[in-house]
Amino acid sequence: MKKKRLVWQIFPAFFLIALASLAVAIWFATNALNLFFLKQTARDLEDHLALLQHQIRPHFSGVDLQRIDEICRENGQLTETRFTVILPDGRVVGDSRENPVHMDNHADRPEIRSARAEGYGQSMRYSKTLDRNLLYVATAMHDGEGLIAITRAALPVVFLDEQKRAIQWRMAGGGLVIAVLVGVISLLASRNISRPIEELRIGAEVFANGELAHKLAIPETEELASLAEAMNKMADQLDRRIQTVVDQRNELETVLASMHEGVVAIDTAEAIINMNQAAADMFESERDKAAGRSVQEVVRNLELQNFVREALATDEARESDISLFTPGETILNIHSSPIRDGSGQSIGTLLVMADVTKLRRLENMRRDFVANVSHEIKTPLTAIKGYVETLVHQEIDSEGDYERFLGIINKHVNRLDAIVEDLLSLSRIERAVDIAESPLEFTETRIGDIIQTAIQVCQNRADEKSISIDRRGDLDLKARVDATLIEQAILNLLDNAIKYSDNGSVVAIDVERRNGATGIHITDHGCGIAKNHLARLFERFYRVDKARSRQMGGTGLGLAIVKHIIQAHGGQVTVDSKPGRGSTFSVLLPS
Ligand code: ADP
Repeated sequence: MKKKRLVWQIFPAFFLIALASLAVAIWFATNALNLFFLKQTARDLEDHLALLQHQIRPHFSGVDLQRIDEICRENGQLTETRFTVILPDGRVVGDSRENPVHMDNHADRPEIRSARAEGYGQSMRYSKTLDRNLLYVATAMHDGEGLIAITRAALPVVFLDEQKRAIQWRMAGGGLVIAVLVGVISLLASRNISRPIEELRIGAEVFANGELAHKLAIPETEELASLAEAMNKMADQLDRRIQTVVDQRNELETVLASMHEGVVAIDTAEAIINMNQAAADMFESERDKAAGRSVQEVVRNLELQNFVREALATDEARESDISLFTPGETILNIHSSPIRDGSGQSIGTLLVMADVTKLRRLENMRRDFVANVSHEIKTPLTAIKGYVETLVHQEIDSEGDYERFLGIINKHVNRLDAIVEDLLSLSRIERAVDIAESPLEFTETRIGDIIQTAIQVCQNRADEKSISIDRRGDLDLKARVDATLIEQAILNLLDNAIKYSDNGSVVAIDVERRNGATGIHITDHGCGIAKNHLARLFERFYRVDKARSRQMGGTGLGLAIVKHIIQAHGGQVTVDSKPGRGSTFSVLLPS
């Protein structure tokens, strides 16, 4: 339904009340005027009759009825009034219009009866004689002995009506002017009442549009002024509260955005209420589009969906590791805790997720490492234990056996020593890098000198296998390195090259500068390494051929040490190998 404006509700009421009052006033005024006119005319007629009585009185003593009639006629001609003289028995003896002889007995006329009884009579009625409405006024005429006649004056009401109508027209004109005035004043008054309310309404709409800093003008009316003040106060408080809420939300957003952990709020219908950028990155989804969508839609992972279902079903906090495959495996450690509303009712669950992929991998590596170390140490220890027990508990017959046993024990002790030595080297590098204990000493060193020292250390082993070591490239190149560690890395690689090469072959060391980095390539023509081993070659204790490595006195830690040393320099080590043709290990050091 179309709503009416306030002004059009107030104005018609005002206007109608004013018009009704005006109509009632005019009605009363017209009535009073009618009465006044009637009275006034009756009084005039009475005066005329008094004059008539005075004129006809002398003619009663001589009973000159003729003269009376004449006087009536004369007076009637002078005025618009009809005069009649009636004897007490009702006979008409004079009339200004008609011949009295032909006129009825007037004794029963109402005004005549009243005049006879009370001295005065008045009546308004239709006159057949004159065919119009007339006002009759009759007065009694006495002499010393009593009533001698009744005089009557009559005036057509038309005269009265005409005068009345003229005045009524004026009143109507005045009334119209007053009505227009009343209309204009009503409209103005209605406007005056409705305008401040309209202004308040517009102001309220401004508030509703969020412009709470807007101030409503205070109207002059006391009640509306209080209303406007209350609305201003309300808007002010609302503004402050909204500001507080916005500030709190911004703080929360900042905290959530700066968190490494992913945070997701989920409602009881398993729809996402909100999540931070870290969570969106973990799920590889868009944060803005996630709100309102179900967990199943955003994260296609059954493990996580089940976790959410269980978290929503319980009232307690939960924790679990979940694997996501996006595209590599990511392990998330998820904590859930219920979200409650003001009344303590659970309305969802909050997930806090930490990417523990590296941590879990490290833990695994550490576990494997401990198992590997134990295994590596156990093998020589078992051998040593066996031979020592044989030496202690059994009689050894020949001197040769005795020496052989001791030789074997010595070999295993050396192996143990080599393992421990390599483990210590590894741990030293790790400590230097991870906790900066005795950090690396970088000095500008000539690569040729490092290679020279490394060759010197393994020259004997090369000579034993008649392997020649060929140095190529720009040996004068310099790099900022920890010389001792790089020397150890080159030595390990050279040692492997000699170890896994056939007798009489050539091992080459090539030094070059490529793309601003220093490259050292160690190439052998040995057994080479199958492709499937290359990815794990630099892991601790990883060997391609365990028996061969052990037989050659390898610990399985040599390449792991190389990798750690080169990484500590910010460089990288790679391998390129073809089984049966040889391998090239390349070290790239940034300058
Ligand atoms: P190890 O002490 O057993 O040599 P490393 O860590 O130095 O241990 O090497 C790991 C494994 O990589 C070796 O067991 C060997 O199988 C393989 N390997 C390393 N260098 C070479 C090479 N130059 N040619 C062939 N295989 C190699």
